[in-house]
Amino acid sequence: MIQCKGKKGAKMIRKTAIIIGASSDIGLEIAKKFAKANYDLALTYNSHKLDFEKELPKANLKTYKLDLRKTEEIAQFFAEVQKDFKTFDSMVFCAGISQKRALVLDLTDAELDNLFEINTKAAIRCVREFAKLTANKNPSNITLIGSFVEKNGCSCESAYTSSKSAMSGLCKSLASELGNLDIRINVVAPGFIDTKMNNNLTKAEKEDIADMTPLHRLGTPEDIANATYFLSSDAASFITGQTLYVDGGLILE
Ligand code: NDP
Repeated sequence: MIQCKGKKGAKMIRKTAIIIGASSDIGLEIAKKFAKANYDLALTYNSHKLDFEKELPKANLKTYKLDLRKTEEIAQFFAEVQKDFKTFDSMVFCAGISQKRALVLDLTDAELDNLFEINTKAAIRCVREFAKLTANKNPSNITLIGSFVEKNGCSCESAYTSSKSAMSGLCKSLASELGNLDIRINVVAPGFIDTKMNNNLTKAEKEDIADMTPLHRLGTPEDIANATYFLSSDAASFITGQTLYVDGGLILE
């Protein structure tokens, strides 16, 4: 967090957020939400270099190519952002891949490894590097984008579900460890969100899911961005170690 003088001499607080996977439908919406709140942004993409300057015309941002399967790129990325920005307030880990629907009998080692490498191990590595950047410097926070599937499981997506369920375990385990370093950590677990990740669903399947959902619709990237921004903001300064389901009530306890 940096205090600086605005045009009329009023004190302005500038914050910085790192968004891993800002090229996703949800990640881009999260970036827009933080940009509206005046955050400086460090945004990563892998295979889709979006026109971030056009998408976020007024934002102070830098973009980084980062392949989360390559551990050395993760270390390089955090070294670069440290040079490019002075302090860090928030990190959102939004990157993720889905699983080709298959019985566990047909699950290949390659797919299993890939899912855990990106969805789970990279998340843990990014949390570790962010914690090194911010530990005891200023109050900071991490939001991991998990999935509603962790609550009841998901048949034929056992590897994806396992890789995403790890988010809550990680978050609960780290609440205390990171709390000692003045870092909060939470998970946002989206329900069915209308993004390209769900392009494999037919219109009829999407309608069925909407019908099953108490709020009778799929979620939007903006629904997830709003919840993520809330958990990253000072309004959530006493919230850590929690998983917030943003699923229209699809999965109830
Ligand atoms: P998208 O499919 O739109 O985006 C996936 C993101 O992951 C992209 O930014 C992509 O980067 C990044 N990514 C994939 N592989 C790699 C890699 N090897 N290295 C670095 N980045 C990588 O996803 P959504 O917006 O739909 O979802 C965002 C998050 O929300 C995911 O974690 C997903 O699991 C979770 N989620 C989504 C739900 C939904 O219904 N959509 C439901 C529950 C959870 P690039 O495109 O540049 O390669």
